Amino acid sequence: MKHLAEYRDADTARRLAAEIGRIATRPWAIMEVCGGQTHSIIRNGVDQLLPPEVELIHGPGCPVCVTPLETIDRGLAVAAKPGVIFCSFGDMLRVPGSRENLFTVKGRGADVRVVYSPLDAVKLARENPGREVVFLAIGFETTAPANAMAVKLAKQQGLTNFSMLVSHVLVPPAIEAIMRSPGNRVNAFLAAGHVCSVMGTWQYPPLAERFRVPIVVTGFEPLDLLEGIRRTVAQLQEGRHSVENAYARVVSERGNEPAQTVIAEVFEPVDRAWRGIGVIPGSGWRLSEAYRDFDAEVRFAVGDVTAEESPLCRSGEVLRGTLKPNQCPAFGKECTPRTPLGATMVSSEGACAAYFHFGRFAGP
Ligand code: SF4
Repeated sequence: MKHLAEYRDADTARRLAAEIGRIATRPWAIMEVCGGQTHSIIRNGVDQLLPPEVELIHGPGCPVCVTPLETIDRGLAVAAKPGVIFCSFGDMLRVPGSRENLFTVKGRGADVRVVYSPLDAVKLARENPGREVVFLAIGFETTAPANAMAVKLAKQQGLTNFSMLVSHVLVPPAIEAIMRSPGNRVNAFLAAGHVCSVMGTWQYPPLAERFRVPIVVTGFEPLDLLEGIRRTVAQLQEGRHSVENAYARVVSERGNEPAQTVIAEVFEPVDRAWRGIGVIPGSGWRLSEAYRDFDAEVRFAVGDVTAEESPLCRSGEVLRGTLKPNQCPAFGKECTPRTPLGATMVSSEGACAAYFHFGRFAGP
């Protein structure tokens, strides 16, 4: 805890907040891209420490939340097939598809298993040669290296009963889509430290330059976030728009180059639909041609499964930062963590779930 406590010191937090209050003379809207940061902001009340000039907008960076409904429904269709062992991280099990979720499919007898690493799924495939083992591979750039390694390992070991349902999404195209979206009011971004630990910061200067928007890489502890906000506000006040790394204990400019190499070998860019937002060009990865045999969507022919969102759910606006969760009419009524209408209420990193769990039923 020693190394966490130093990033949670209340006196330092108050000093940083006071410094932000001193330098902010105009209204600024800053988007934290990552759902983990959103959760930390709400849990620690970071937004409530800020001066009224500084508004935090919660972005689309929760991977569970933005996984398209079609992918969930395709996963459900694959999981229900006889002989399949369907593997997923635990937070995907309650994510609602059009009509049900992985828990309900499991309740009907499907073999759905929670794993803690994609390598666990590869091991299951090795141990069960008569079964098809499928791993649901979702997430941002952060989880892509382990998923890429798992497919590479399966190929090296000659496993023909392992496949992945892939729905990776990428941060830079999402920032571009937000900046181009009608009604956008984001003045600056807090970029996600864990994504940048893999990919580095080198992808961001062209975006900062093109949209004249400051981008500050931050971590997840309260002091990381406040320091990121302080640097962002300082740039805005001074009319600057550069990329700064406020998470240097983890992130370098080049990032993890061996991880980037294995990602480039196993995955290739693709236009990806984001739940509640729509298709963002070049915003995802799918398995490259050399690894296409491991694509569960192809193997199980579920590519034509389509889906419809609940008409009550406004998570698209939440994910674009144009609506606060507690401004959604269904928030806390038809939609709760027990009865989620959208993925932003079911995921632990979802903005709607964070507002519900930490009692933000009204106000900003
Ligand atoms: S509160 Fe529920 S219905 Fe409203 S946007 Fe969030 S997930 Fe969707």
